[in-house]
Amino acid sequence: MLAAECRLLGQNHVFAQRSRSAVCLIRDPYLAIIMYERLKFFAKRTIPNRLLERYDDEFRRLNAVWYSGDKVNCNCCGGCFSKWISLNNGELLCPRCGSLPRTRRLSQLLTDNYLREGLRMLHFSPSKTLHHQLSQKAGLIYDSTDFVGEFRAKYQFNILDIAAPDMTYDLVVCYHVLEHVEDDRRAMSELFRVLKPGGTLLVQTPFREGAIYEDRAIRTEAGRLTAFGQGDHVRVYSVAGLAERLERAGFATKPVTYAGDDEQGFRAKETVLHCTKS
Ligand SMILES: [Zn+2]
Repeated sequence: MLAAECRLLGQNHVFAQRSRSAVCLIRDPYLAIIMYERLKFFAKRTIPNRLLERYDDEFRRLNAVWYSGDKVNCNCCGGCFSKWISLNNGELLCPRCGSLPRTRRLSQLLTDNYLREGLRMLHFSPSKTLHHQLSQKAGLIYDSTDFVGEFRAKYQFNILDIAAPDMTYDLVVCYHVLEHVEDDRRAMSELFRVLKPGGTLLVQTPFREGAIYEDRAIRTEAGRLTAFGQGDHVRVYSVAGLAERLERAGFATKPVTYAGDDEQGFRAKETVLHCTKS
């Protein structure tokens, strides 16, 4: 064997060893979290936002290569992976589309129970992947809205004064919005107004045990972070407290708590309020 061929084989051997090591590292759950968080941190500080937004799908598809496998599957993008990306806060993120457990659960709830031909739906602050999925759904009249422009959406409705006629929608989805709204009773009244009789409102927020916790004297971001768990939250609901407020707005409420599912990445003990307008 020529010396040059020996050097080439040696280099290939070293490269193969390093590649195997890299794959082993990424399969370690703790190192995978650290690497994902560091890559995200690095990307956010070195790549302009407009480029991150523009090439978000490409970045995610590239990232998904490290998670190739068939142990878990995402009902939002249809992808199969070796595992979910496990974030520091315990959320399990889809490596390809970035869906959260609650997004995947909502996708299944909608598919199994609500979506039908001719349904008119309003979706507040939709995740990118679900917005894409529902926008493509044949026969569904899908309106999306995000007041502050954080999420991709068709409208920028103010939930305190929704720019839609009475009884417009068969289904309204309002996930992780009400805990940001100071006058949540007015928001609930608006949600009731735009819903058709017999229509359904699906609501979810972060929950605590006991009663609703709110304090209008807490107005700083730091204070709200400490008191309510996030700097732009104005309260923490309990399931019973939220149900009671929605009932005062006219809804019949049915809180449902779901079991977890590792393969589909659903969180255990997740509660959704199914609210109907009679
Ligand atoms: Zn996905």
